[in-house]
Amino acid sequence: MKLNIKDTFNTELPADPILENSRRQVRGACFSLVTPRRTSNPKLLHVSNDMLQKIGLTEKDVKNNSFLKVFTGNEVLPNTKPYAMCYGGHQFGNWAGQLGDGRAINLCEVEHNSEHWALQLKGAGETPYSRTADGLAVLRSSIREYLCSEAMFHLGVPTTRALSLALTGDQVLRDVMYDGNPAYEKGAVVCRTSPSFIRFGNFEILAARNEISTLKKLTDYTIEHFFTHLGKPSKEVYLQFFKEVADSSLKMVIEWQRVGFVHGVMNTDNMSILGLTIDYGPYGWLEGYDPDWTPNTTDRQFKRYRFDNQPDIVLWNLYQLANALYPLIEETETLDLILTDYRSSFTKDYQNMMRSKLGLFKSKNDDSILIKELEDILQLSETDMTIFFRNLGNYEVGKPDEGIKVISDAFYKLSDVNESIRKKWDDWFLRYDNRLKLGVEVTQIERKEKMDSINPKYVLRNYMAQMAIDNADKGNYSLIEEIYTLLKKPYSEQPKYKKWFAKRPEWARHKVGCSMLSCSS
Ligand code: AMP
Ligand code: MG
Repeated sequence: MKLNIKDTFNTELPADPILENSRRQVRGACFSLVTPRRTSNPKLLHVSNDMLQKIGLTEKDVKNNSFLKVFTGNEVLPNTKPYAMCYGGHQFGNWAGQLGDGRAINLCEVEHNSEHWALQLKGAGETPYSRTADGLAVLRSSIREYLCSEAMFHLGVPTTRALSLALTGDQVLRDVMYDGNPAYEKGAVVCRTSPSFIRFGNFEILAARNEISTLKKLTDYTIEHFFTHLGKPSKEVYLQFFKEVADSSLKMVIEWQRVGFVHGVMNTDNMSILGLTIDYGPYGWLEGYDPDWTPNTTDRQFKRYRFDNQPDIVLWNLYQLANALYPLIEETETLDLILTDYRSSFTKDYQNMMRSKLGLFKSKNDDSILIKELEDILQLSETDMTIFFRNLGNYEVGKPDEGIKVISDAFYKLSDVNESIRKKWDDWFLRYDNRLKLGVEVTQIERKEKMDSINPKYVLRNYMAQMAIDNADKGNYSLIEEIYTLLKKPYSEQPKYKKWFAKRPEWARHKVGCSMLSCSS
């Protein structure tokens, strides 16, 4: 196995001088060197062939025993120094102090075809940042991260990715419902990949500890490697850097709203500095369109991380990052301006995104009312978001009376759509039809094609991941492969997989893992 290793994070930034792998506060450092834990009986379950190519490996490499060993933590590649990052974070709105890679171990960085990838094992054992937990991950959450991060990539949503999914052969104790009934589950390791795994929290912990020279080193490093076009670090450049982080985070959350993804734990330690979706935990996908929905059982009471609050939470998190970078900038006005700008950009970009979902192209019309009305009607009876938008592409201009028929597959219970709701749909379709007529430059076929490239036919519905998990628990991994392959082309018709273009089955409505997700992973 030949990887073109190009380590930068652990060669250019300050390391924790203590080598002992004990849980502690790590000061004046960006990371601690650690060795992944040996696993008792590792077994590869899946490899992303796409990601494999990206890092310059082939199927032949996968067959080599070294691949399994390296990507389950049983062998360290020569000339590499695995490490865990030090970061802090605001969890559910409160400063939580040092968090860090408690169960993620970065193996190395690789360069291939001018792309740079950090390779990281999740679930590879304890680090100085493990706090009270075991540093391990279970099969259930590993399948969810593996499938979802790859699916998000193919949906066109900025995200970290995954290279491999493996069983460790070890048992892991988890109390899924936090009800005092812990049980053993199969342990697993995912190798995830990203140009960088740096989070808002990496900057926050250094600012909180007043370790300003290290904060400057980390910021300069980030700019030099990942924002190279900004040039040599200076106050001006720090501001531009912050502006770019705000822009890319905004772009990311708009994409979440487009596909109906709810992250579930948008703490600042789970915010990538590159605007990538990171840390797939108790996330979920909107089935019935419900802006108030949060998949995370821990978030049930205040619903801080509910679907339609996500853009505001990104902004809240950006405020925390601004505070962390402040010591390097010492000027609030421009920072404030960037944050204020986020709000107006969001309104504009969100409308543009929704217009594209509705097939309203090439017009400067203000469509905010039409969009708001739709969002309201979608909530009157349980209506599947994915099916609704996908089928809307079949709407024919000039036939508003038939609008409701075109989208009726999206209704969970037809009997819930009473006369008054029906009337609201008819009225809305009339307005939609009038609006479509303003965009006459686009033909019916062109509009459908464009809408189909924006409104996915297939997403990782919560119950699909759960079915893959239930099967895998019994030793059957074929559904992992089927879902992985299906979600490589989420916008294509793929008739042979059409059973997945369906509403959530009733059995999944209140099932743990489908509608209720635990942070215990
Ligand atoms: P999360 O919000 O789930 O991304 O995790 C918050 C913090 O808890 C991070 O610092 C994680 O590394 C840490 N953490 C989560 N699960 C474990 C675990 N099983 N062992 C050690 N640390 C963990
Ligand atoms: Mg995390």
